[in-house]
Amino acid sequence: MSAAPPMVARLLRVTGVVQGVGFRPFVHRLAVRLSLAGWVRNAAGTVEIHLEGAPDSLDEFARVLHAEAPPVARIEGVASMHAEALGADGFAIADSVDADTLRPVPPDIGVCAACETELFDADNRRFRHPFITCTDCGPRYTIIDSLPYDRERTSMKAFACCPQCAAEYAAPDDRRFHAETVACPACGPRVWCEGLHGEGRADGETAILLAATALHMGAVVAVRGLGGFHLAVDATNDAAIRRLRERKRRDAKPLAVMVRCVADARRLAEVSAREEVALLSSARPIVLLQPRAETRLAASLAPGLDRVGVMLAYTPLHHLLLEAADRPLVMTSGNLSEEPIAIGLDEGRERLRPLVDLFLLHDRDILSRCDDSVVRLAGAHDILMRRARGHAPAPLRLPVASPQPLIAVGPHLKNTFTLVRDDQAFVSPHIGDLEGLEALDHWSQAYARYRALFRVEPTVAVRDLHPGYLSTRLAEELGLARVFTVQHHHAHIAAVAAEHGVTTPVVGVAFDGTGYGDDGHVWGAEVLVCDLAGYRRAAQLAYVGLPGGDLAAREPWRVALGYEALTGGTSPAFALAYYGIPLEMRTLVTQQLTQGVNTPMASSMGRLFDAAAAVLGVRRHASFEGQAAMELEALAGDLPAEPLPFPVRDVDGRLVLDPVPLLSALGEGRRHGADVARLAARFHESVAETAAVVARRVAHDAGLDTVALGGGAFQNVRLLLGIERRLVAAGLHVLVPRLLGPNDGAVSYGQAAVAAWRLSHE
Ligand code: ZN
Ligand code: ZN
Ligand code: FE
Repeated sequence: MSAAPPMVARLLRVTGVVQGVGFRPFVHRLAVRLSLAGWVRNAAGTVEIHLEGAPDSLDEFARVLHAEAPPVARIEGVASMHAEALGADGFAIADSVDADTLRPVPPDIGVCAACETELFDADNRRFRHPFITCTDCGPRYTIIDSLPYDRERTSMKAFACCPQCAAEYAAPDDRRFHAETVACPACGPRVWCEGLHGEGRADGETAILLAATALHMGAVVAVRGLGGFHLAVDATNDAAIRRLRERKRRDAKPLAVMVRCVADARRLAEVSAREEVALLSSARPIVLLQPRAETRLAASLAPGLDRVGVMLAYTPLHHLLLEAADRPLVMTSGNLSEEPIAIGLDEGRERLRPLVDLFLLHDRDILSRCDDSVVRLAGAHDILMRRARGHAPAPLRLPVASPQPLIAVGPHLKNTFTLVRDDQAFVSPHIGDLEGLEALDHWSQAYARYRALFRVEPTVAVRDLHPGYLSTRLAEELGLARVFTVQHHHAHIAAVAAEHGVTTPVVGVAFDGTGYGDDGHVWGAEVLVCDLAGYRRAAQLAYVGLPGGDLAAREPWRVALGYEALTGGTSPAFALAYYGIPLEMRTLVTQQLTQGVNTPMASSMGRLFDAAAAVLGVRRHASFEGQAAMELEALAGDLPAEPLPFPVRDVDGRLVLDPVPLLSALGEGRRHGADVARLAARFHESVAETAAVVARRVAHDAGLDTVALGGGAFQNVRLLLGIERRLVAAGLHVLVPRLLGPNDGAVSYGQAAVAAWRLSHE
């Protein structure tokens, strides 16, 4: 007979996203299953587990901890230490210990499969309860007031648990064991609908039915959700969508659609296996999909574009509403174009009244604004085009820890900010354009919440180079001891490098709309040799005058006029760009250009796409920046095409890309009847080919083997993959922006990475 195996004790410290995601209950179940004694507790942002038992069981525990962790948990590390055996009896969830240290706040989690099943199970006591959740799902960040994450520090504190819910909360074998959001029809939040002035209030099921009926009739319904209000309309009703656009003052930007399940998504769009995974992921992002040819979706959803944003219902209320409406619904953020999304009850009523016909409301307060996240699959990459709900406020890592806590205030448009402590970067959800008081208010509120939640008091601010931006004023007015400045495109490339943990020099291809250059001109098509410390501008697109400045981003024909001037006269190849533009207007703008009145010089890839769209006769006026580029991408599709001439000159050691021959060739082709889609494809290939040639030359000359791609123009997937493919074929490493996307949402993180590096090297 062999002796009983020796008992050993071990202390595990688990780091990552492990609080507020059902981790302690999971550990409890696992320990009980493996007959291990001890305890688990939240300790200052980590989870500590004390285990006692047979060595085999301890090993098995360590293995299963990774394999079966709750879906939303993200284990970054498990430190295992020897511990003194306590002779513990059974396994317990111990009180949290808190300390003045970094504590991750869990992101919001889409309704899980088990809760969804219960929601539609007539025998379940939460049948059709619009706030069903468990330890695996439900709101987190948007309802958390402070940490540690316990019910009394969330907006669920207003709802005292009934005895049944309390019993589930206390039962270790229950799915709602320690679920801080546990609630039921007897004790949980309420749903109701009301008219524009509070009239005609109806509760519960009736409210959902009334809202669905209004949607059938083409009404716009304000729906209070998880991170703010949505505006909902019937996605198959063209007239209703037009009405929504008119009221929201959003003429052309694509609108996202919500459906109940992947099968419903498939009826509207092509869904690959990877796209299905993205749709079903716990963040439930908007996924940009290719619409089916015979789709039911109204044409005005994403006019002229080849992608439609689709997301799955992510709250039980969405499920009930979609079931009642029995059709896909447009769900777009509840705001006027570019304003922050509304969250408060009275705020929502006040601000959205002019936009809607009915309110569908609930009384669980939203404490932090959070827009929907947006994902697009590109080649082998999942790119988070907008990182918000379901991701924020989980921290990203910086490759260099900052010796001082800092705040990077972010760019002027499509703003996010980044709060840093050590190597943890807390990137805010999408805030929007920093124009107007409301946006500034939103910024300040979000910043105050972040500081309080993460207990970080910055001593250093980081801002853009532009002296005139509101973000610059913001940074100065914070009154911190020091303010760093970081050039916009350096920040773009730094963000990509930092996301990949790269601190060595890279070739950065920054293709973008607009950023303030260190020579005072508008930059946006730059090839930099850079690291986190600094940059050298090794190549650029030739400067062009932009008559009217910012107006040129909305009027591509003006950019074409600027390029035509570079030909040294007038050229028939550019004629189509001005079709329908009154001659007096054109003459006026030509004068503006030649006299240099309000005509900044720009090297912008965004503007080059605008000029190409104008010359091809695709678009002369845009209702939002980037519209022309998106249409060119849609036109080009995946048509194979040969590049057109796009020469590069060496000017005093800097490579200058000259797009005039390219634009002329496009215009000539169009004049002689070439297919516009084919020309759009050739344009993409030309830019990709020349960019790759230039990046290779710069890499070779600087002795580098890594190229980072960043900037808003890389939202264009054909361009991104076209350049990546060529560089990879040439044996270079290519870093693609994934976690924060290529857009300006990544800039604050890049600013933070640069500042952290500078601070740690002084
Ligand atoms: Zn659940
Ligand atoms: Zn209850
Ligand atoms: Fe940018």
